[in-house]
Amino acid sequence: MDLSYILNELGEERDQYFNAIAPPIIQTSNFMFPSVAAMRADLPFEYERHFYTRGNNPTVAILRKKLAALEGTEDALVLASGSAAIAAAVLANVQQGDHIVCVQKPYSWTLRLMRDYLPRFGVTTTFVNGTDIANFEAAIRPETRLIYLESPNTFTFELQDIRAVAELAKSRNIVTMIDNSHCTPLFQRPIELGVDIVMHSGSKYLGGHSDAIAGVICGTTAMMKRIFSGEYMTLGAIISPQNAWLLLRGLRTLQLRVQRSDDSARQVVAFLEQHPTVRRIYFPLADSHPQIELARRQMTGCGGLITLSLNTDQVATVDTFADGLKRFLLGVSWGGHESLVFPASIGYDPTTPPADENYNLIRLYVGLEDPAVLIDDLRQSLDAL
Ligand SMILES: *Cc1c(COP(=O)(O)O)cnc(C)c1O
Repeated sequence: MDLSYILNELGEERDQYFNAIAPPIIQTSNFMFPSVAAMRADLPFEYERHFYTRGNNPTVAILRKKLAALEGTEDALVLASGSAAIAAAVLANVQQGDHIVCVQKPYSWTLRLMRDYLPRFGVTTTFVNGTDIANFEAAIRPETRLIYLESPNTFTFELQDIRAVAELAKSRNIVTMIDNSHCTPLFQRPIELGVDIVMHSGSKYLGGHSDAIAGVICGTTAMMKRIFSGEYMTLGAIISPQNAWLLLRGLRTLQLRVQRSDDSARQVVAFLEQHPTVRRIYFPLADSHPQIELARRQMTGCGGLITLSLNTDQVATVDTFADGLKRFLLGVSWGGHESLVFPASIGYDPTTPPADENYNLIRLYVGLEDPAVLIDDLRQSLDAL
């Protein structure tokens, strides 16, 4: 199935809604039945039929079909946030006494879930340096049920060899899950590499306009049904029809936006690489990335996230650089139209010497603006230091 078909046609039943090009937002909480017999007949099929919007909703259903097709899975579920999606999929695969192997430095709320929350229910996690497959092998125990990946992570961009980890997990009957938010389905295909569950924060590139929070999980129908009848319906962190529609609209331009962000980021990297005030650049497809060969093997693009450090030993200099940017807005998140800067120095006191070097990590997100404008902005702020 070609990408254009998925983004423009798949799942849209236009003859059901006046042949409108844009699908309707079916803003309803529940659905009625013509008879008791019809209601009874539908009862075992809440996963596929329409009872109540906490389960199924026609606007959300279009989105689910497109997302599953994008990742090459049988089905997908869409939740209220990326964090809700992670929690639902992880919880569905563990019970008391089980063990998870998770890559080091995952997304901050993934870390909270596994390090702080799950131990309350007797589920423990070992965090491993994912750059070496031997670390996964060493961490696996008889009670390991889940291996959780995030390749690359979204600050320092360490990668895991996805195919190798998936093979190892399969040989031990362990479920694998990956946070694929960074690459999007356009630049990395984890299912083809053997992963079981693919997760996305829909708040980033999939939505793409900084106006909706959403989360996605993709996998087999069996796995999606298990999550649906468990965490999805029970915890109830579902997406609203309105936000599902915003994601559908975002998807129309997914390829254009992600490609633009990727192209512009490479120009920004080329500029930063030759600037004397820049100490180091972190970018998965830069020649200087320590895992560049693996990156080229399993990623076909990169997207707009770049982290840099400055030639300084002062927290205040990092602050000044970030404050000096006019076109990169100061904020968290990424994946929208607007370029952003997020300095790790916010976690440090600028008046005392920092305890470690991480204050000097400054993450840029390159959005959809003219890259020349963004490079000029970086130049003026760097030159002023
Ligand atoms: C933002 C993000 C999440 C969480 O998604 P929300 O929609 O904010 O809950 C998870 N993983 C990564 C890599 C993210 O960037």
